[in-house]
Amino acid sequence: MSNRVREIKRIGVFTSGGDAPGMNAAIRAVVRTSLYNNKEVTGIYHGYQGMIDNTVFDMKSDSVSSIIQQGGTILKTARCMEFKTVEGRAKAYENLKNAGIDALVAIGGDGTFTGAELFSREHDIPVMCIPGTIDNDLNGTDLTIGYDTANNTVIEAIDKIRDTAASHNRIFFVEVMGRDSGCIALNAGIAGGAEAILLPEKDTAIDELIELLSDAAGRNKSSMIVIIAEGDKNGGASNVAKRVNEKFDNFDIKVSILGHLQRGGSPSSADRVLATRMGYTAVNELLKGNTRSTIGIRGSEIVTTPLEEALSKKEIKLNEDLVEIAKIMTI
Ligand code: ADP
Repeated sequence: MSNRVREIKRIGVFTSGGDAPGMNAAIRAVVRTSLYNNKEVTGIYHGYQGMIDNTVFDMKSDSVSSIIQQGGTILKTARCMEFKTVEGRAKAYENLKNAGIDALVAIGGDGTFTGAELFSREHDIPVMCIPGTIDNDLNGTDLTIGYDTANNTVIEAIDKIRDTAASHNRIFFVEVMGRDSGCIALNAGIAGGAEAILLPEKDTAIDELIELLSDAAGRNKSSMIVIIAEGDKNGGASNVAKRVNEKFDNFDIKVSILGHLQRGGSPSSADRVLATRMGYTAVNELLKGNTRSTIGIRGSEIVTTPLEEALSKKEIKLNEDLVEIAKIMTI
């Protein structure tokens, strides 16, 4: 086998799985870095589904004009069951080959990366992945694209909830996104001055929570905010509020589920720059001959990690220092 880097002529780019603000900035960087290096670019709509349905188009520099500030993804995203089958992936590969696409940049989460790794091995096509998810739950990076924006959105909502909570002596139970990851909840809890934070990674008993709230009430707090990650084992904000209310009835109890608004909005400056750096690096790595890796950031440095390694690790990424700090800040 020769060590020569395989020549890439046309790079396909797509977004897949859950959308996140900043994905557009990553697409823009992939397109412009490719064009700068005299490579052609194909945009693939609807993630893996678009490969199977052949919904692709040639991208030029102006295809990505004025999108850096837009939330969502101009390439759309989808979940695609057919891609999980050998036949589905074979059909996708046939379409890519016919379109002259000889390398891929995938922007998405864990599922997207799993599909990309498999596809790249099966059909010998180079692929680089870019972590885009508001959950910040991927290995190989300290931060994912969209996480900073989601945190800012959540904190804006909590500040508003605090205003109304303080006017009425209320306890608000605010549910934020994070089925398996408490990153947003922990961050929002600290930045929003929450009285308690319930995380999927930790078991907080309802009795423990009530004790905490009783103590806080005893210190004459006029409002209390409890942040609950949707994956908390007590079953979400409505359940927690109901169970607390049964034993703690001197406060007016309200529930607010922030839901999908956390996924939207114009990306923050930090997410735009992160996405741009990652998109740029993804293309350069492909052109250097790197494949089956994910782009990440460690400290302030952009790094790559083999997908196999990133996908095999399942360690909890919660920052224990932050958990401790959050507790101390509630006294
Ligand atoms: P995310 O990328 O945000 O984690 P999903 O888990 O829905 O979102 O994955 C996105 C898509 O990746 C799936 O709809 C599917 O098409 C593809 N995918 C996920 N897991 C696999 C797998 N094991 N094999 C092949 N494709 C997969």
